[in-house]
Amino acid sequence: MAAPPRRIPTPRSQDNSAFARHEGRAGAGRDNLKDARGSAKSDAPKISALTPQAAVAPGSHAHFFTTLKAPREIVSYPDPVLRRKAQAIVNIDENIRELVADMQRAMRESEGRGIAAPQVGVPLRLFIIAGGEGKSDVVFINPVIEIAGAVEAHDEGCLSLPEITVAVLRPTAARITATALDGTSFTLETSEFDARVWQHEFDHLEGKLIIDRMMAKDKLANRKSLRDLERAYEANRGG
Ligand code: ZN
Repeated sequence: MAAPPRRIPTPRSQDNSAFARHEGRAGAGRDNLKDARGSAKSDAPKISALTPQAAVAPGSHAHFFTTLKAPREIVSYPDPVLRRKAQAIVNIDENIRELVADMQRAMRESEGRGIAAPQVGVPLRLFIIAGGEGKSDVVFINPVIEIAGAVEAHDEGCLSLPEITVAVLRPTAARITATALDGTSFTLETSEFDARVWQHEFDHLEGKLIIDRMMAKDKLANRKSLRDLERAYEANRGG
């Protein structure tokens, strides 16, 4: 996800969700990004799971690494790899570590706040959130996301959709269980802005883009930029 532009004021729900209570206990702000393993499920009765982890035969993603060579660059809309439902990662091996390094480089170069593996052409269930000042990036492998809280609109950009900004409605809280690069499982939750970034990156693993969530005014405003991207893609592949 690209760095966030302006905030769109929307009425906030007065509903104090389970996540809000959790935040109160765990401390506000970025501290919520620390490993919240073991938090009680009963904390969040309103949470709904988005998708279960995809089941995949062992080793079935090996071909992504023989056909796609590093250094990988960010792929733009309308490349079809962005529309594929990504496959679960079975082995966290040297290929995956190399992929993560490539993604981190691409994310830094474009000053992104997050990046998903399909955005560098590899349809696997992996995304990275930039750590910010003095903090390490967080790598999410095979994430399962749950969302909660009031729905808010906020402008979002995407590294794969240059020049495009779209107001997207999303719940304000999220919890993710995922595997880290060292193979350990962890759970994080937040009701800070990262909740939105997580949902944005998770969408990429489902083949979903912010333009799928556009409201009418953004459809109109971005029509030319989208068409330009489509033309550039066709020109690149000689079509
Ligand atoms: Zn994106």
